Amino acid sequence: MTLGPTTRFAPSPNGRLHLGHAYSALINWDLALKSGGKFLLRMEDIDSGRSRPEFEDGIFEDLKWLGIDWEEPVRRQSEHLDDYQRALDRLSELGVLYPCFCTRKDILAEVGQSKSAPHGPFGAIYPGLCRNLTDAERHQRLAGGDHHAIRLDVEKALTIVAAKSPSPITWQENHNEAQVTLFCDLSPLGDVVLARKDIPTSYHLAVTIDDHLQGISLVVRGQDLFVATNIHRLLQALLNLDTPHYWHHKLIEGPTGEKLSKRKHAPTLQSLRADGVTPEDVRQMLGLDSLYATTY
Ligand code: GLU
Repeated sequence: MTLGPTTRFAPSPNGRLHLGHAYSALINWDLALKSGGKFLLRMEDIDSGRSRPEFEDGIFEDLKWLGIDWEEPVRRQSEHLDDYQRALDRLSELGVLYPCFCTRKDILAEVGQSKSAPHGPFGAIYPGLCRNLTDAERHQRLAGGDHHAIRLDVEKALTIVAAKSPSPITWQENHNEAQVTLFCDLSPLGDVVLARKDIPTSYHLAVTIDDHLQGISLVVRGQDLFVATNIHRLLQALLNLDTPHYWHHKLIEGPTGEKLSKRKHAPTLQSLRADGVTPEDVRQMLGLDSLYATTY
């Protein structure tokens, strides 16, 4: 019997890991290990243009070096597209999806016209152009084979969830060694994409389905994904999925206070290792110097 939480580390194999990843992976690992829980590994590899097997191998190498091991099998999102398609079909039956034919340029042009256009943490909030198409326009464009993504109609989704249960959508966030109940606020996100033009899923859909199917009971990830949890909770409520607890940890910053990222060429664990840094040094640099010291 598993006593502690089932946690996971879910990197995208599109580059080498840096200290920010090490922080997330080590916290997840420590939390599972210290309480007899389980630690799972997932490759978020739906971006086929950027994901590469050598980066996946690099992730295995870096995690092993840090002293982390995981339960097999590793879940690769690219191998589970059927699971995401099934969820999309269910959402489609609920009437909460619509095709979106907009290009990035269309969206920016529309948003640029309105000075007060709201922006969320993931960029401009979708202004709803395709939500307002008539059925006839939609059918015509679909029949013409126009490329499209699939968006979630958040207003409709909220109405459906409210009809199922009058209680507001909430989640349990671990904060300063306590649990707090947070109320969902969908306003910073707008109608997010649930399936892209090339693939029957997106980050939001895949992560929600995977956390459910892998039995994740505690999602520990960076503060930058805090807002995304609102959408994940909405999807869980629509699809009657299990609700994990969450802990959005602080982000590890570089010397000038910037968020570490692959894009900005943060030093990789591989390069730190080559410079003689040890796994113990990494823990110390991250404030996780004694194993099991992790607290919320
Ligand atoms: N793949 C995401 C990342 O590398 C993590 C997503 C998650 O933990 O939900 O930032």
